[in-house]
This record gives sequence, structure tokens and C-alpha cells, in this order.
Amino acid sequence: MRIAIIGPGAVGTTIAHALQQTLTDVTLLGRSNKEMHITPANQTVQAYNIDEMKTPFDAIIIAVKTHQLRDLIPKLHRLSHNETIFILAQNGYGLLSQLPFKHIYQAVVYISAQKSDNKVVHFRDYRLHLQQDVHTRKLKQLFDNTKIEIVLEDDIEEKIWYKLLVNLGINSITALGKNTAQILKIKEVETLCRALLDEGYKVAQAEGIVFPDTIIDEIMNIYAGYPDLMGTSMYYDVINQQPLEIEAIQGFIYRKAKEHGVHTPHLDTVYALLLSHQSLAYN
Ligand code: NAP
Repeated sequence: MRIAIIGPGAVGTTIAHALQQTLTDVTLLGRSNKEMHITPANQTVQAYNIDEMKTPFDAIIIAVKTHQLRDLIPKLHRLSHNETIFILAQNGYGLLSQLPFKHIYQAVVYISAQKSDNKVVHFRDYRLHLQQDVHTRKLKQLFDNTKIEIVLEDDIEEKIWYKLLVNLGINSITALGKNTAQILKIKEVETLCRALLDEGYKVAQAEGIVFPDTIIDEIMNIYAGYPDLMGTSMYYDVINQQPLEIEAIQGFIYRKAKEHGVHTPHLDTVYALLLSHQSLAYN
């Protein structure tokens, strides 16, 4: 199986490096030819210019940020054939419909890594959750001897919504508060975070996702375990003046809330303020 990973960033380089240790036909593709350095393995991974790649792949794992997907889509036709499996290894949801292909999957990504220039630091985890079917079972079989763990789900929607809620709370408050996980020590911020999670929970429910009513405490407990100085991807994007993945996380839940008529005053406020931040920073 010819496998391409698109996006030589934190997640893409980590996946490509892990697969290349065992599999022979794994190519990392980026916007230019460049060598990525990955630690703690202390090795390099070659990324190839996507525009120079001519032959199609059997599986393509897309690890660009959600707002970078649109520019990439026209190039995917050249890199695929009728039966190519596409996996979106991204946070957020709602972008699958943009991919005009037969076999498309949203992965829930549990890989923690960070990119700075051509360096990637992998912190922990190598896990992708995917909807179970004949194609993903084949992929899992292939990856079984690699570090990348594929967890097959009977109902991926629940896992996607769980991660959406986890991202909704902590990403929103750290990005808008321009503060790391220690922001939750401020009582009022903690209250805001809970209110956001509660609204997200109600939107998930309206979408038919059944979570236990302990889910908000469960997620707040996860946040409580974060080191004080740990930032989130949206926090770092704000600090580094990079575009934010708002539309695939807060925007997606916001639109679902409107669709179902769920009252989400905290989410509406947070989404509006994030949009304002984005418009000032990048327009
Ligand atoms: P990242 O480090 O910014 O990597 C994105 C990469 O995509 C960059 O190397 C970028 O290239 C490349 N890219 C952008 N447009 C491209 C195009 N048209 N063709 C080829 N390459 C292109 O982002 P990330 O942290 O890996 O995040 C990827 C996704 O995983 C996001 O949705 C994120 O939320 C999610 N996620 C990340 C983590 C984490 O720990 N990092 C954990 C879970 C989920 P340049 O280098 O040229 O800019």
C-alpha cells in the first residue's frame, strides 16, 4: 500500500516518522522539499514538494490545519485513484463534506506534538480513532506493526463530539484569555468553561449523541490534570499570530446549535470574540 501523509507539521511528521520505521512506502508531502527534524527520536524525515509528486497513493492521511484544507483539495485528485482512502487527521469536524472522494474518514487524533520551523517535538501518544469498516480494518492491520495505534470505533461520532467538547472548553478560554491551563484557577473562568461545556453537551445531545451527565465534571477533571504552563493549540496560534481553527471547533458547534435551536449564549459570545480576534490579526 502506498501511503502519503500530507502536512509536515507536528502531527504529520510524527505519523510519517512512526510509519517509516516499519513500512516501506510512506511519503511525507509538504508545500516544499524540506527536511524535518523530530525529537526525542533525534532523526530526520524528508518532506517532498506536493506539486512535484505525480503518482497516486492508496491511502492519504491529511494533517494540515483545518483552515488549510481548502487550498489542498484540488491537488488531491492527482494524488489519488478511485479507491484511495482519505483520513482527515485534524481536530474539529464538518470538513469531510468538502472532500469529493469515495472513502473519506474523520480521525480523532490523540498525538501530542509541536512544530517550530523545521523541528517537531513529539510529547506523547500515537493514536488515531476511526470508524470501523472494511477499509479501516485493512489499514489497522497494516499499522499493527507500527507505533501508530488505530482504534476502530462502532460509532465515531461520539468520539468526535467528545474531543470537540474537550477542545471547546480549554481552547476557547486559553485563546481568549491569552493564558495557559493555569487560567482555570480563576473561579470566574472556571465557571465560564463549565458553561461552555454545558452548552456543547446540549448541542451534542440535539445531534443525537448520548453522553453521561457526568461528562462535564469528567472533562473539567481532565483539564485539572494539565500542567499550569501547558498551552493549547489555539492558545499558541493566538500567541504566534497564526490563524485559528475556529470554524471547525467553536464555529461548527455554533452552527449546529442554530440548526437545532439550542440556546448557547456563552458559545455565541466566545465565537464572536474569536472571530473578532481573527479579523484583527489577519486582515
Ligand atoms: P502544524 O504543525 O501547523 O502542521 C500543519 C502542516 O501542514 C504544516 O507543516 C504546513 O506547512 C502543512 N501544510 C499546510 N498547507 C499545506 C498544503 N497545501 N500542502 C501541504 N502541506 C501543507 O499543525 P499540527 O499541530 O500538526 O495540526 C494538524 C491538525 O491536527 C490540526 O487540525 C490540529 O488541531 C490537530 N491536532 C494537533 C495536535 C498537536 O499536538 N499538534 C494534537 C491533536 C490534533 P508549512 O510548514 O509550509 O506551514
